[in-house]
Amino acid sequence: TIGIQEIGEYLQLWHMIEHTTLSAEPDHLLWKWSSKGTYTVQSAYLATFHGSTACDAWKLTWKCWAPPRVRFFHWLAHLDRCWTADRLARRGLQHPACCPLCDQAPETLRHLLLACPFSRQVWYEIL
Ligand SMILES: [Zn+2]
Repeated sequence: TIGIQEIGEYLQLWHMIEHTTLSAEPDHLLWKWSSKGTYTVQSAYLATFHGSTACDAWKLTWKCWAPPRVRFFHWLAHLDRCWTADRLARRGLQHPACCPLCDQAPETLRHLLLACPFSRQVWYEIL
């Protein structure tokens, strides 16, 4: 069935193409992500970043004064790749049921770094 939305889309399409003229020449494909209109792997790769914003967060990880092991941990934590209990559980590996520090909540990276009472006390002492 055709509803109001479909009729609206039809009219919108009609207005978009009403000044278009067709020619007898055969159609040809045009790749819009390169200036010549031809496909290249490089242009496809660059198109995947279209609309994205540059982020210099990597500098916080790799261009700071912290020791390499701290930088590496920060990188793993940023990617959520630390071997916490929830990650071990997802892989079907043996894992503790609760946080070994507080025994109050499941051990996730967020809990270990931010929510655990033990961690909060450490942050409080540092800050
Ligand atoms: Zn805890």
